[in-house]
Amino acid sequence: AKVLVSGANGFLAVYIIKDLLERGYTIRGTVRSESKNAYLLNLFKKEAQDGKFELVVVPDITAPGAFDEAVKGVDAIEHTASPYHYKADDPSEIIDPAVKGTIGILESVLKHAGPQLKRVVVTSSISAIMSPESNGVLTEKNWNDSSITQVRELGRAADQGAKYRASKSLAEKVAWEFVEKNKSKIAWDLTTLCPPFVYGPILHDVRSPEELNSSMALFYEAIFTKRKTLGELAQIQSGWVDARDVSLGHVRALEVPAAGGERFILSGGEAIWQDWFDVLNELDIPDFNVPVGTPGAGKAFKYKQTFDNSKAKEVLGIKFHEKPETALDIVNDLRAKGW
Ligand code: NDP
Repeated sequence: AKVLVSGANGFLAVYIIKDLLERGYTIRGTVRSESKNAYLLNLFKKEAQDGKFELVVVPDITAPGAFDEAVKGVDAIEHTASPYHYKADDPSEIIDPAVKGTIGILESVLKHAGPQLKRVVVTSSISAIMSPESNGVLTEKNWNDSSITQVRELGRAADQGAKYRASKSLAEKVAWEFVEKNKSKIAWDLTTLCPPFVYGPILHDVRSPEELNSSMALFYEAIFTKRKTLGELAQIQSGWVDARDVSLGHVRALEVPAAGGERFILSGGEAIWQDWFDVLNELDIPDFNVPVGTPGAGKAFKYKQTFDNSKAKEVLGIKFHEKPETALDIVNDLRAKGW
């Protein structure tokens, strides 16, 4: 089967492509510019030579019909392309590519994909479920409306986290609305995946820490640079998940019939940075030091919100990584780069 993966050069997408190729799928990836091709064609050299991996350039995902050619003849789609950064001035800088990119690929699907298409998977985010204001145990039934409201009310003055969260919540909403509106015309179904912060070793093209994707940049800053103080870090709670589990989620989302029409939280658990310090100190990696802080403080930490991952475990069959394995693999990978 042939799978279209948008944003093929991204942190998560490279994992997804690798996993799908290993399972025998044929991949067509989209990138924004030809300059991204060489790294990927080299990484998946054998598959490229065998005609199992190709790349197409979609220069502007917000342009009408941008994906018209790319969707032709594919059996499934993994739509990962979406901005993930905290640098938007006008919120539209981040919301437009997220929302128009999602509607655009679905419009192209409707017109040009063909009857062989079975499923479209959209990489959403826990940001479409939670906001800093939400409380308690959150499930797939929860929607983040408050970041959307905040951005509508405050515009440029909304905080960067709210702008990103609103982009993801709006993009996932338009995907479900599109399916609902066109249900009489379509023979495929939609699955959305909602991970919190994704951490893992780096497979994509990153030459310096400054080029890291946003979630790995946070991990790098907290664990490697010690630029943030323990006090600052202790306040930061978040869900986290290993990149390899998110990638497996994207594979299972294609393969498990019952995943159709569903959204899934893909969360390995919650953490404060103290937990990562404890894990790394216990691993006692030679010549690698992290702050000691207050060991064990994470055990008593009261989370404002937690994420129920039981649906992904049950329906997608994912057994999530635990912190020590993820932490060790990341530290080994980043140190091997000399960072
Ligand atoms: P990356 O930044 O590594 O990848 C993002 C991908 O989207 C890149 O291919 C990038 O292309 C593309 N992209 C970004 N902005 C645009 C745009 N304006 N037009 C076209 N393409 C664009 O991040 P991740 O791999 O982490 O993100 C992949 C997906 O996962 C995103 O949808 C993100 O929201 C989601 N996600 C990520 C989480 C995380 O913690 N990493 C958590 C939850 C969800 P280019 O390189 O050319 O910019």
